[in-house]
Amino acid sequence: MPSVKLKSSRDKIIQNMHPWIFSGAIDSVSGNPANGETVEILSSKGELAGKGSYSPSSQIRVRILSFNPEEEINSTFLHSRILKSINQRKQTIDLKNTNAFRLINSESDGLPGVIVDKYNEYLVCQFLSAGAEYLKKNIVEILAEELKPKGIYERSDVDVREKENLKPVKGLLSGKEPDDLIEVTENGIKFFVDIKHGHKTGFYLDQSDNRKLLLNFVKDRTVLNCFSYTGGFSVYALKGGAKKVTNIESSLPAISISMKNFQLNNLDENKVEHVTEDVFKVLRKFRDEGKTFDVIILDPPKFAESVSHVTKASRAYKDVNLLAMKIINPGGILFTFSCSGHVSQDLFKKIVAGAAIDSGRDVKIIKQLSQSSDHPVSLNFPEGHYLKGFICFVQ
Ligand code: SAH
Repeated sequence: MPSVKLKSSRDKIIQNMHPWIFSGAIDSVSGNPANGETVEILSSKGELAGKGSYSPSSQIRVRILSFNPEEEINSTFLHSRILKSINQRKQTIDLKNTNAFRLINSESDGLPGVIVDKYNEYLVCQFLSAGAEYLKKNIVEILAEELKPKGIYERSDVDVREKENLKPVKGLLSGKEPDDLIEVTENGIKFFVDIKHGHKTGFYLDQSDNRKLLLNFVKDRTVLNCFSYTGGFSVYALKGGAKKVTNIESSLPAISISMKNFQLNNLDENKVEHVTEDVFKVLRKFRDEGKTFDVIILDPPKFAESVSHVTKASRAYKDVNLLAMKIINPGGILFTFSCSGHVSQDLFKKIVAGAAIDSGRDVKIIKQLSQSSDHPVSLNFPEGHYLKGFICFVQ
């Protein structure tokens, strides 16, 4: 088997059990491994430390699959990793009320680059790294056999694959082609999901726990949902007894599914307003018109795609938080999020604090939020914690 030997200064990767080996940590490569091929990982002294997937064009040159020198990377290994993930979800998700959740969360579930989301009877996968692509056929066979879904659909149509010298791909991997809209249930609330064309694998499953929390804050209140996508937070808002909900979202297909989601849950559509425009523009307009809301949700897209974007992203986060704080009623509740992995929880807190000072409002964090329990973060892989949020009380 081809192998990769670490520099002596980098043997700590093995002690820390971090799953990434960057190109600069490698002393030598032998055996000419192909893109994604499994390699042995050798310490600087040449001791076998585990196995990983080789990716010659990525800065993350090896993603470690196992730190057990004895373990072979074969169907038995993949099967056991997949079952471990499924068992965690069985214990931590209310399966009576939820049939849409993440089944496999990449590095944090010991399968680097592999994302598997369950949407009712379908599975949607992303294979984001060379190693994930290399193991794809095997993983899909195990998923089909173990879970017997109606179909398995691939949504690897993402730019990150370029770094791994892989082309974006999407399409059916197994079973039956899904309909354009799949009906799912999350915390007892129904949603239509477009797994073939929607964002990511179709739905922002990472917000399911936070959407549930919103139920506690909306009774008889006016709600503004910024970056509303298919209306996730808004449907919860009306379910929780909100007086009115305003959605701001720039994507027309998302708005169209959003409207269907209100009907699906028999909610009063007179209580819903949609604004198909840029959030920044609309918030400025609301500020100038003196329009205010009791509860505001800010769940923007990833503003910082890389470390080099953090400064610019911080300005955008501050701007949008400042605008929201200007138009929230006294005693209002702000749900504010950042899904940029490169913006730490600490930095995000500082940004929101800066916005609070500039707005002249008294703002308290009443709860700190993260991604849902189906998106676990392995303690060996802090990079897995990308979604940060705060519930703020604004006076
Ligand atoms: N909260 C949502 C997910 C939001 S994802 C949920 O729970 O499902 C971010 C959304 O913001 C995407 O739907 C994207 O189309 C939209 N978006 C991105 N930039 C925008 C902008 N400047 N103005 C309005 N919408 C925007």
